[in-house]
Amino acid sequence: MQHFVYNGQPSRVVFGAGSLQHLEREIDALGARRALVLSTPEQAAHAQQVADRLGTRAAGVFARAVMHVPIETARQARDEARRLGADCAVAIGGGSTTGLGKAIALDSGLPILAIPTTYAGSEMTPIYGITEAGLKKTGRDVRVLPRTVIYDPELTLGLPVGLSVTSAMNAIAHAAEGLYAQDRNPVMDLMAAEGIAAIARALPGIVGGASRGATAEAVLQARGDALYGAWLCGMVLGNVGMALHHKLCHTLGGSFNLPHAEVHTVVLPHAMAFNSQAVPQAMERIAQALQGLNPTRSAPAALFDLARDHGAPVALRDLGLQAADLDRAADLAVANPYWNPRPIGAAQRSEIRDLLQRAFEGVRPD
Ligand code: NAD
Repeated sequence: MQHFVYNGQPSRVVFGAGSLQHLEREIDALGARRALVLSTPEQAAHAQQVADRLGTRAAGVFARAVMHVPIETARQARDEARRLGADCAVAIGGGSTTGLGKAIALDSGLPILAIPTTYAGSEMTPIYGITEAGLKKTGRDVRVLPRTVIYDPELTLGLPVGLSVTSAMNAIAHAAEGLYAQDRNPVMDLMAAEGIAAIARALPGIVGGASRGATAEAVLQARGDALYGAWLCGMVLGNVGMALHHKLCHTLGGSFNLPHAEVHTVVLPHAMAFNSQAVPQAMERIAQALQGLNPTRSAPAALFDLARDHGAPVALRDLGLQAADLDRAADLAVANPYWNPRPIGAAQRSEIRDLLQRAFEGVRPD
């Protein structure tokens, strides 16, 4: 019998193609009247469309979100929210934009309505990160959990195919580690398995749709599956602890400035291979979610193939990491280790160094 504690987190989810049409209703339900709309510079047009739709209920647009939420940007956005008298933030975009919303909420308590357009999953978590003097500090605070999330697959149609695949692998990583989390529970296990399966069935349609002229309906269906999977995987990230894989990605992303979703894509099969002996049941569930009830490949091999077969990078050297960085990466990865089903402290440094070497070269795990 599994003993567990399950703590439901309060957020409202509105899902479906075209669900952006419910934005005004959802702003009203928050009791808000003046929304500051957030986005990256690349998605300023998305943000402006949202502001136009809101009319007088839009306080303004702040389209300066960037990766890792620099404290300076967070301060500018907070000042802008105050100056404009905003009483909520609407964050349209990926994890970087949601992250900026969280930085505002942390300080001001403003409610966030998130409209995710990638599969990163930040919208379902009370986890925030802010970078000050080159150091990213992360923490948990229920104030930063978006109160409402509108998932509209139509808004993801413009997400480039390459980023769609790596972002989807990023989502799968949350679910995969959730399946062996120390504080896992049966509800999150179900969500994790369903999330992985939804994303695995979505990827051929997203990648093939672009190159083989699939119908618009089929592409939207695939995009819907991916976003549905991303929601589930984000729930897992927000509810249970992460382990070796997230530690490695945090280290590589933060200290070597490697792109977030791509790093997750490359590292995931290797982190799973490292842990596979320690958590065979979790590996079985991942393998089944990816391949059905009678999987023919191990979970790490199936994850590697999923990325490679859909055109994603599989080697850290292709992301800009240098061979000379691997020793320092191994040192950093074993410092202040997260909980992991197999120990990952200083005594395991040489095994972690080997793992990084394989990820660097893009070796397919067995
Ligand atoms: P991102 O938000 O940086 O987006 C990447 C790029 O894609 C941006 O230029 C963005 O504008 C663009 N983009 C996004 N959606 C698009 C669309 N539909 N069409 C066209 N362009 C689009 O990338 P991400 O991978 O979503 O987020 C990564 C960041 O989120 C990292 O900083 C990571 O640490 C953080 N994150 C935090 C949590 C959390 O729980 N706190 C969870 C996951 C990720």
